[in-house]
This record gives sequence, C-alpha cells and structure tokens, in this order.
Amino acid sequence: MKGYYTNEAVVVATESRTSSPVRIPRNPDTLNHPQITNLYPCGEGAGYAGGIVSAAMDGERVAVLVAKKVGLHR
Ligand SMILES: Cc1cc2nc3c(=O)[nH]c(=O)nc-3n(C[C@H](O)[C@H](O)[C@H](O)COP(=O)(O)OP(=O)(O)OC[C@H]3O[C@@H](n4cnc5c(N)ncnc54)[C@H](O)[C@@H]3O)c2cc1C
Repeated sequence: MKGYYTNEAVVVATESRTSSPVRIPRNPDTLNHPQITNLYPCGEGAGYAGGIVSAAMDGERVAVLVAKKVGLHR
C-alpha cells in the first residue's frame, strides 16, 4: 500500500468494528416502540443500521415521520 506502509508507522493493524446484536422493538409502520409512547428506536445502537449511510437513512426516516406527526412536515 503505497504511502501507507512507512518506516515511521508505529503499529499497522486491521481497522475493525462490530454491529449491535440487540434490536429494540418498534412498530414497522409508526416506527415507535410498541409499549413506550414517543420512543423511536433508530440507528445502529437500536439495531436498525450497520454503517454511516444506513444509520443516516434510518434516522431521516424516523425524523420525517415524527415531523409529520407533529405537523412540521408536509
Ligand atoms: C472504528 C469505526 C469505524 C467505522 N467505520 C465505518 C465506515 O468506514 N463506514 C461506515 O459506513 N460505518 C463505519 N462505522 C460505523 C458508523 O460509525 C456507525 O454505524 C454510525 O456512526 C452509527 O450512527 P448512529 O447515529 O446510529 O449512532 P452514533 O453515531 O453512535 O450516534 C449516537 C449518539 O447518541 C449519543 N448518545 C448516546 N447515549 C446518549 C444518551 N444517554 N443521551 C444523549 N445522547 C446519547 C452519542 O453521544 C452519539 O452522539 C465505523 C464505526 C467505528 C467504531
């Protein structure tokens, strides 16, 4: 890897990450928790994303739905 492996490198190692094995339940239509009113599990920690783009898309989906619910979105 040109420009990456150098004599100045202290450690060269694999970059790794893991995704949450837990999924907080949510209604597939309303996206809110089945028992807890106004809780909208979303993104990686809630188990609905596995990377930057999927987390952003899931967050946007929930944000639009909540905005519609409170009348801030057409
Ligand atoms: C080392 C590493 C490398 C990665 N590389 C990539 C990559 O190359 N490409 C890729 O697609 N994905 C990558 N990811 C994954 C990506 O970063 C995550 O999937 C994404 O950031 C998840 O977004 P999120 O908004 O769901 O969660 P987060 O970005 O974790 O946001 C959660 C937010 O909630 C806040 N929070 C937590 N608890 C509370 C609380 N009690 N009260 C208030 N706020 C709270 C936190 O401070 C944080 O700001 C990487 C992850 C790591 C760790």
